[in-house]
Amino acid sequence: MLYTDDGQFDKYLFLKANPNIVLMDTTVIAASPVRLTVAGMGDALATYFEAQATHDADGGTCAGGKGGMAGLALAKLCYETLMADGVKAKVALEKGALTPAVEHIIEANTLLSGIGFESSGLAAAHAIHNGLTMLPECHGMYHGEKVAFGTIVQLVLEDAPTEKLEEVLGFCIELGLPVTMKELGVAELTREQAMIVAEAACAPDDTMCNMPFEVTPEMVANAILGADALGHYYLMDE
Ligand SMILES: [Zn+2]
Repeated sequence: MLYTDDGQFDKYLFLKANPNIVLMDTTVIAASPVRLTVAGMGDALATYFEAQATHDADGGTCAGGKGGMAGLALAKLCYETLMADGVKAKVALEKGALTPAVEHIIEANTLLSGIGFESSGLAAAHAIHNGLTMLPECHGMYHGEKVAFGTIVQLVLEDAPTEKLEEVLGFCIELGLPVTMKELGVAELTREQAMIVAEAACAPDDTMCNMPFEVTPEMVANAILGADALGHYYLMDE
């Protein structure tokens, strides 16, 4: 993902071939700032919901063509791994401990999320992330932190069951991933700001088109306001 010098989303850069090897030294990752791995979990959180939406829409993958069953299965495993091991991994990492949960999360954040998205597709969550980069207030936040909030917005847009919303919100709150625009740096979210994000998220060349229903900027702006309100509600922060 490429950004302009002033921090706005520019474009996705796809190379002709995947790397021959992706080598990760988990002892180095375990010694790195925890916020980085948590942000990685925020990015990986979107994978399954975007893969499922693209599948339901019969949409395309970023690399071209349609996704298969394998990508969707890995995206699902990515989500299940986050739910099973995410909190365990975060608390272990805070002590610099390389536990099996940390190993599983590193695999989920990289291989499962990487293949899960590349072989399935992106949808609303990343489009909303890209829209959020229009607000200078959000520039201090990591990619995965904005994607985590974008995932909640996608779930609101889809009218996901309360149970699913609570699972995702609870996960984000436990990990310290942002569930409100205030946590993303926007002190008082206005409808105008939500609309700026929504308009950019619905750009014709972005991945909102992989949602299985017609999405307008007004719907996205309302989902952003709704997700922000839900975040405040579950944080009990009024
Ligand atoms: Zn991402």
